[in-house]
Amino acid sequence: MSAKIIDGVGVAATIRAECRDRVRRLQSETSVIPGLAVIIVGADPASAIYVRNKVRACAEVGIHSVRLDYPADVDPAVVGREIVRLNRDPAIHGILVQLPLPRQFELNQVLATIAVDKDVDGFHLYNVGGLVLGNTVFPPCTPYGVLRLLEYQKIPLEGQNVVVVGASNIVGKPMGLMLMQRDATVCICHAKTRDLAQFTILADILVVAAGQPNLILPQMVRTGAVVIDVGINRLADGRLVGDVDFDGVRRKASYITPVPGGVGPMTVTMLLVNTIASAERHAARRPAAEALGRGAAAAGGPPRPTPVDPEKLMPQQ
Ligand code: NAP
Repeated sequence: MSAKIIDGVGVAATIRAECRDRVRRLQSETSVIPGLAVIIVGADPASAIYVRNKVRACAEVGIHSVRLDYPADVDPAVVGREIVRLNRDPAIHGILVQLPLPRQFELNQVLATIAVDKDVDGFHLYNVGGLVLGNTVFPPCTPYGVLRLLEYQKIPLEGQNVVVVGASNIVGKPMGLMLMQRDATVCICHAKTRDLAQFTILADILVVAAGQPNLILPQMVRTGAVVIDVGINRLADGRLVGDVDFDGVRRKASYITPVPGGVGPMTVTMLLVNTIASAERHAARRPAAEALGRGAAAAGGPPRPTPVDPEKLMPQQ
């Protein structure tokens, strides 16, 4: 057996073309141009590349983007005040803080400062809660991208055994929740899982997001399984690889994603989708809010977070 290689670049291009149409339609019908603010702190080279790609992708589909750069030693309160300002800026529909942040930041506090209805990464506590209850406002971009890849290939999820390797808050856990909502039977493994292979071998669909090259070998994969490799690892020789032994596993799987060119292009694309969806929701709420003579929140938007004092965006002692 030789797996069909899932072309993330191609699927992403199709979705981006849809994004362009949605932006055009929104602008012509409501004069609203979707706006994304990207905050980057410090000079981490990988973060700089990710942010550059996000800004470029926005321009491609007609989203207005604003990039805010801060030095690594910035006072968290300064960034907090900027987020509060962006929360109120009607031209901005999505706010993203590029992770990781330097040590002086308390991540949960930063995420809690972002308005729930602009949290396009879907990391705010309210959005995570929505995901648990199945009322997702902003699905986190990477697992959302995986789901769309599976949908594009018409891979059924209902009743399938899905094993997710990796239990992070940004990939593994939300991936598991999203697949449970599609009636898959989900098992989430992590670094302390004993005998990983006894779980992965049961998977009809195996999603791997651990950040370990060659973690998944052919003998760990059921013949005919669908294998989605989220991992991105830079080897000493400069090559970019995933977490799966691609050449070995492709001989056993029915579908497999390559690295690069699989999940990666989908992550940025789903950020565009979330930003446009946010702008559409803001535009839809606006007339009602104006008619009431009150703010958008009064017109039935999602609940807003308890405001966080930006002066307190420091790690708790
Ligand atoms: P993370 O926060 O470091 O989490 C890694 C997860 O994998 C943890 O739950 C960890 O377990 C688990 N893990 C580590 N080694 C393992 C092992 N040997 N066996 C089983 N589980 C293991 O990483 P992340 O942010 O989720 O990212 C994971 C990978 O995906 C990275 O390579 C990252 O670069 C990549 N990524 C790609 C995209 C994309 O767009 N393609 C987006 C985001 C991330 P514990 O919880 O027990 O520590």
